Amino acid sequence: MPEELPVVEISATDNSDATSDSMTAVPAAPAPRTKRGVPEGLWIHCPGCKATVYKKEVERLLNVCPECQHHFYVSTQKRIEQLLDPDSFEEWFTELRSVDPLGFVDRKSYAVRLVDEQKATGMTEAGTVGRGYLRGRPLVFGTTDSAFIMGSMGSVVGEKLTRAIERATELNLPVVIVSGSGGGARMHEGILSLMQMGKVSAALARFHEAGGLFISVLTNPTMGGVAASFASLGDIILAEPNALVGFAGPRVVRTTIKIELPDDFQTSEFMKKHGFVDRVVHRADLRSEISRVIDYCVR
Ligand SMILES: [Zn+2]
Repeated sequence: MPEELPVVEISATDNSDATSDSMTAVPAAPAPRTKRGVPEGLWIHCPGCKATVYKKEVERLLNVCPECQHHFYVSTQKRIEQLLDPDSFEEWFTELRSVDPLGFVDRKSYAVRLVDEQKATGMTEAGTVGRGYLRGRPLVFGTTDSAFIMGSMGSVVGEKLTRAIERATELNLPVVIVSGSGGGARMHEGILSLMQMGKVSAALARFHEAGGLFISVLTNPTMGGVAASFASLGDIILAEPNALVGFAGPRVVRTTIKIELPDDFQTSEFMKKHGFVDRVVHRADLRSEISRVIDYCVR
């Protein structure tokens, strides 16, 4: 599951986390036994520095921890608000819906899972595409969102991205895709999911031949078939700091090849060091960085 600003409740008597710096902000006075607590969701726990931080402050900083710069999960809707010009996004292909071609059942049936995920996220699928403006520059914009079945690429995600890239080719617009996919191909759709990797990549190849600019933005996590296809095919590849980027997860790699992995294995910084990522960009700088790349590459 994505780390969606986990909410911690802090009662005045609870000082179990009192070693963290930010606890100075929490009333530490001897308190009555009754659980008073802070209104739900006021404080959140940062997995980066273990501090307890004020949620409003984190949100003001685009969901980044003020103490350690840990980048929290950002939903598709928030991502659009953060990156694109206000009210400039026009979503495309919203009518596409996944079907259940295999009658796949794990803990529940895929058909039921899809409905549950739609209810939980308010989205119809893990992928969102459309057209918008970034600092006045027109572009085709897409995301994959790890909140929806780990952001895995099923037929609909692949189809949306492919159509968006094809339309960008026709319209001669740059493409920016922000990836957040812990799962790669969506196993519930079997081979049909795997085929999306080739389909999106082929669309990108035609886009490239036509002289299009594709900026791929990797966020935590970008793994599996998403990392192994379009996310790695950017003309420019940007990554948010300390995002998990790779194919198989580190645990799988470690047990398979039986060696100790470096501490920073599969982070954005590691990927940059090894040439897979062009630049590691703080979320606060992403908007200006993308517009700069567009200005540099598009006449
Ligand atoms: Zn932190």
